[in-house]
Amino acid sequence: MGAYECTRCGACCVAPDIAALDKPLGLRCPHLGADNLCTVYENRPEVCRSYAADELCKRIEAPTLEERVQKYLAHFELTEEADAVRASGATSILRRA
Ligand code: SF4
Ligand code: SF4
Repeated sequence: MGAYECTRCGACCVAPDIAALDKPLGLRCPHLGADNLCTVYENRPEVCRSYAADELCKRIEAPTLEERVQKYLAHFELTEEADAVRASGATSILRRA
């Protein structure tokens, strides 16, 4: 078990771009449920399986998911890029439904 515990906050399913899922930067993964838990957890792709909580999870702690996502994006200096993606009206397109 790692030093950092996953609090199931959902930020890593929203903030990063995930090529394996065609998920753009800063947009919710379509598999993320309303409760911010993965709806395909048992069948989630390898990239999600291999992702583990680390000190970044602690660093982005905030009361809301939106705030955590913003802190994640700011940490990687991706705020402007994510804003541009959102402004473009991009949506997450899944290769597999
Ligand atoms: S950002 Fe970290 S704490 Fe939040 S769901 Fe992902 S791994 Fe877990
Ligand atoms: S497939 Fe599940 S674990 Fe992977 S990014 Fe989407 S919601 Fe998160």
